[in-house]
Amino acid sequence: MALDAQWAANWMRAGAAAMAENRQRLIDLDRDIGDADHGENMDRGFSAVVQKLDADGTPATPGDVLKLAAMTLMSKVGGAAGPLYGTAFLRASTAAGAAPELGPAAVAAMLAAARDGIVARGKAEPGDKTMVDAWTPAVEAARTAAAAQATGAGVLAAAANAANAGLAGTEPLTARKGRASYLGERSAGHLDPGAASTVLILQAAARTAEEAA
Ligand code: ADP
Ligand code: MG
Repeated sequence: MALDAQWAANWMRAGAAAMAENRQRLIDLDRDIGDADHGENMDRGFSAVVQKLDADGTPATPGDVLKLAAMTLMSKVGGAAGPLYGTAFLRASTAAGAAPELGPAAVAAMLAAARDGIVARGKAEPGDKTMVDAWTPAVEAARTAAAAQATGAGVLAAAANAANAGLAGTEPLTARKGRASYLGERSAGHLDPGAASTVLILQAAARTAEEAA
């Protein structure tokens, strides 16, 4: 099976399961350097995506699934993360276009578009201790994997692994964007919650792609 609309819907469902499972962990991470709502926000948003998929049925293309997710996350997540992930999925949808399935290069381009959307919206740079610190290495690893003839599932696995390393790298950083930046140097010594939810999203993509392969 290819990385088609069914895969994209499976990805969103696996993402929702991961948010539900990690709700408390994301709340705790956000309590350390924010306002303890990130787990609640992401769980609410992704479960709304699943409800919409259940109500409407699986859309025709991966791009349509990503668009449904974008609109739903934008309206349901709230906080800083809602518009950021909404923009990410909207740009990813545009990059995916009307293609019925995504090959390795298209997957890498979709991730790059998502990351670029987050940067356009939030203006964070790598090293600012945000989700950009997970997305940026993920995009680089995805491009490298696609250039080395990896499968779509391989591209997503490389992205998820690099995002996870990026997440670990946020721990010593001082936040320069978002709510955590109000803490200044006291934000150092904690993982960034948005980078943690990014890892969950990319791991869900990789896992469901592996199952689809
Ligand atoms: P809020 O900070 O409004 O409570 P959330 O708790 O849902 O929103 O999300 C916080 C996460 O959003 C942070 O951990 C960080 O990864 C991300 N974030 C915040 N501001 C930015 C930004 N300007 N650019 C990129 N990511 C950001
Ligand atoms: Mg918060």
